[in-house]
Amino acid sequence: MSTDETVREIRINPIVPSESVLVATARGSRPQQQEERIPHDDREHVETCPFCKGNEGMTPPTISAVPDEDNWEIRIVQNLFPVLGTESMQSNISFGLQQIMDGYGHHEVIIDHHKHGIEVHEMSREHLVQLLTTYQTRMDELFATDDRIRYVLIFKNFGSAAGASIKHTHSQMIAMPIIPENVYNEVEHSRRHYEKFHQCIFCSLIDEALTFEATIYNRESGEVRRKVDVGQYIIDRGERFIAIKPFASRYEWEVHILPLEHQSNFLQATAEDIEDFASVLKRTMQRLDKVLGGAQYNYYFHSVPRCESYDNCDSSYHWHMEICPRTTIPSGFELGSGLFVSTISPEDAAAQLRDAL
Ligand SMILES: [Zn+2]
Ligand SMILES: [Zn+2]
Ligand SMILES: [Zn+2]
Repeated sequence: MSTDETVREIRINPIVPSESVLVATARGSRPQQQEERIPHDDREHVETCPFCKGNEGMTPPTISAVPDEDNWEIRIVQNLFPVLGTESMQSNISFGLQQIMDGYGHHEVIIDHHKHGIEVHEMSREHLVQLLTTYQTRMDELFATDDRIRYVLIFKNFGSAAGASIKHTHSQMIAMPIIPENVYNEVEHSRRHYEKFHQCIFCSLIDEALTFEATIYNRESGEVRRKVDVGQYIIDRGERFIAIKPFASRYEWEVHILPLEHQSNFLQATAEDIEDFASVLKRTMQRLDKVLGGAQYNYYFHSVPRCESYDNCDSSYHWHMEICPRTTIPSGFELGSGLFVSTISPEDAAAQLRDAL
């Protein structure tokens, strides 16, 4: 689709059809409030920051540190205000339509870097390899030491609109005894797709992105209705990973990073995989920074949950990272309908990100 074409269409997310997007690019149609961009904080050390070096006493004790506690570059601590905890507050209750489960789990903070204001796109590739390896190691430990845990969500909030309450660069990990709705939807839909077609839907999307081109004609007049060049959704690719702008996604600048070879679980990623993942992540974050400089964002990992009923999902589910820049504030229409509005076409967004480096 050309850059200045006006589009108004509802696109169905192929993996989770209920998560669809209204693409409305008419010039001047800006129904949403734009989210603030935040100025770059380039301070390396802040005296009063609990996550800065020398202030370790201001946080709960260290769970682990890389490379070690004295010279740490990455540090994991308990969250001071955990949303889930290991001390039982109450037993599970079911009363009429009210179901209550004990808020059991683990909530940890990963201080991503010892430098206070460094952003992900500025971190060295070697540091990102360490960070991703730290995520993986800690996720593995949480599963190994607590058999009540069914899902470990790794995520990062950047900017207060994205939920970050402390400015020092950090991510979080929440281990929980339930499977979160967003993961459940993806796992269930991709399993159904696999049962029908014996193909992982994520692998098919990658194949399409790499090979597919098509022209859709009007059946009667033979006129061209639309040219589809699926390759236009590729933002970046490495030897083992690919970054894609989904054809239908809730956030205008959303980018997903997936392993090219099928893997259902982030824990299956090898050291060589992580090396390449770090490179693709770094370049993707550099592209987003070039185009959206200072945009607030969230990223998070989706990986197959640990649960007996998902033991057969190794072939149908494909782990990935989703990066969601918060450029607009969702309105009542979006919260009420679940239909997110995108005022830039995903094809334009992809082209801008691709051309940024
Ligand atoms: Zn700090
Ligand atoms: Zn796959
Ligand atoms: Zn996902």
